[in-house]
Amino acid sequence: MSGLVLPTTQEVLAGLREYVAIPSDSRNAPPETMRRAAEWIATRLAFAGARLEETAGNPVVRADVLGVPEAPTVLIYGHYDVQPTGDLAEWPSPPFDLTVDGEVAYGRGASDDKGPVYLVVALLDALIGQRGGLPLNVRILLEGEEEIGSPHLPGYVRDHADELACDLVISADGAQWRPDEPSLSVASKGLVSCEIIVTGASGDLHSGRYGGTVANPVHALVTILASLHAAD
Ligand SMILES: [Zn+2]
Repeated sequence: MSGLVLPTTQEVLAGLREYVAIPSDSRNAPPETMRRAAEWIATRLAFAGARLEETAGNPVVRADVLGVPEAPTVLIYGHYDVQPTGDLAEWPSPPFDLTVDGEVAYGRGASDDKGPVYLVVALLDALIGQRGGLPLNVRILLEGEEEIGSPHLPGYVRDHADELACDLVISADGAQWRPDEPSLSVASKGLVSCEIIVTGASGDLHSGRYGGTVANPVHALVTILASLHAAD
């Protein structure tokens, strides 16, 4: 990044302070508060043509910096909603008032996920503003329901699969390993929960007569479970 003038810590904190001040607690906040957070970050992404796209729940924020057809396309994911505050008495400072104490900034959502997303936005802004573009293509997808299980994101992604096509996804929703060591986690996975019921014969069957032809539910279940993972 030689020659690139990055925003100062004070500038980044000033922006983050505004963003954290919007109490976008997706479990409890009214829709207009959620929309205000979406609009705040979309405004910061105006250089990438950011827009709010409606879902049956909180809007999705989308933006694109394209135009390098020979280069890969990276989709950056993040979220603008935050977790509930819990017991206010346990906070050393008001949760929606970003408070800097030495090297640490406290505020609900400061680290998950407003800070990480805002840093990406600020860096893209600096790169595009000073270099006139990027060496690759970037698509941005920010949702407002991550902390409540993303109920409307799968449908949105299905309906907009073409516009979200990419070579790789980077989640801007993760921790820095240590204060002095940024990190990029690879090969992340989500989680799936399901109930699988396999039924078979209603009683014992003689192995010599039926063993090779009637599937044992235990074997079927083990085969199903093993198929969920590949060696790589
Ligand atoms: Zn998060």
